[in-house]
Amino acid sequence: MAFALVRDGTGTTQITLKRGTSDAALFALFEELPRESVVEVEGTVRKTPKSHRGVELAPTRASVLSRAATPLPLGVVDKVGAELDTRLNHRVLDLRKPAVRAIFELRGVLLEELRGAFRARGFLEVETPKLLRQGAEGGATLFAVRYFDRTAYLAQSPQLYKQMLIGAGFERVLEIAPAFRAEPSDTVRHITEFGSLDAEVGYVDDPEELRGILEGVLVDAVGAAKPRLTASSNPLAAGLPDLAKPFPRVSFATCEAWLGRPGVGRDLGTEEEKAVGERVAAEHGAPFYFITDYPTSAKASTFYARRKDDDPAQTYYFDLGYRGLEIASGGLREHRLERLTENLVAAGLDPAAFEGYLEAFRYGMPPHGGWGLGVDRLVQAMAGLANIRESRLFPRDRYRLDP
Ligand code: ATP
Ligand code: MG
Repeated sequence: MAFALVRDGTGTTQITLKRGTSDAALFALFEELPRESVVEVEGTVRKTPKSHRGVELAPTRASVLSRAATPLPLGVVDKVGAELDTRLNHRVLDLRKPAVRAIFELRGVLLEELRGAFRARGFLEVETPKLLRQGAEGGATLFAVRYFDRTAYLAQSPQLYKQMLIGAGFERVLEIAPAFRAEPSDTVRHITEFGSLDAEVGYVDDPEELRGILEGVLVDAVGAAKPRLTASSNPLAAGLPDLAKPFPRVSFATCEAWLGRPGVGRDLGTEEEKAVGERVAAEHGAPFYFITDYPTSAKASTFYARRKDDDPAQTYYFDLGYRGLEIASGGLREHRLERLTENLVAAGLDPAAFEGYLEAFRYGMPPHGGWGLGVDRLVQAMAGLANIRESRLFPRDRYRLDP
């Protein structure tokens, strides 16, 4: 007897050959064909309890469409796991593993459902430039690129453009596109090219309305993705959380009190975020939560964040966390040109360099707000991945530009 496993998008099927009964040339072919070669097989399907799919294929004809070289740099069906670095170096073979493919099925289904949930709420999907003359917040995490005889920068965020579209009267916009950050740190939650889901909403002056849309979209999208992934036997379906509205809201001040550093006003570090996530899970039993009312001191470079009307030391900004991982940041934006210009100057930026953006505020700008959500972090959270790199097909980080 000889057995071969053939894999396609629908799963793995066993091919069974019997010496003497099966065609001798076919038997020889499958006996010597290297693993991972691409074949076309025709034959008779038979029921058998012995194969994991419940059927086997007795081939009557087979042809080799592409012969795989040996040895394989990475085993596809091997039980022993390879290091993530080795897997990413040979990502095409790694992506052939059903368990890895399942992550990208989850990602694709989740994105479809997210788009549907935004569409149902009247959002228009847009695309803004990724080659910019300057970054959203200036500074250290910009990638410079040669742009003919000038320097351009890769967009860190579509922030300024989505606000300009509110000025253009679009009211509700959504963008799902790559964002680029020159993050030199080597962490399991930062990469240099990431998927950013950005929403901006016009005629809002209460951040609670934004939080309501964001939690609603997540509850709907994850709720719709779960049965679809269950139906396709995706092993990650069972791990998707059952979400309920409302997500807990915890103020930044409460987080600081929990952390024993009341009133410090500095943004939370990674370990502090984790501690807050654990505390929320213990008190509310919920994985997603909002941290509300960020102080201005923690958003100093975020010049477009609106300071509270009755207390300029506070903003209308919030984060969305998932078990200690920051997933999104957003809030109300400053729509009054004079205050926006003051904030720019206070952040050490030159308003003249932002003229194209500021013009949008000069001729009528509705109050508005929105958020940026990291798609890779959301997939990392929903699929329970230890490292954000596993959530992207071909991740880029401080050290990796290949493949
Ligand atoms: P962090 O504090 O975790 O570095 P951030 O506050 O600098 O993130 P934002 O500017 O708030 O990030 O960006 C919005 C969202 O984009 C974040 O909440 C996160 O989900 C995602 N994001 C930001 N930077 C990265 C990155 N380098 N890699 C992956 N996702 C990122
Ligand atoms: Mg943030």
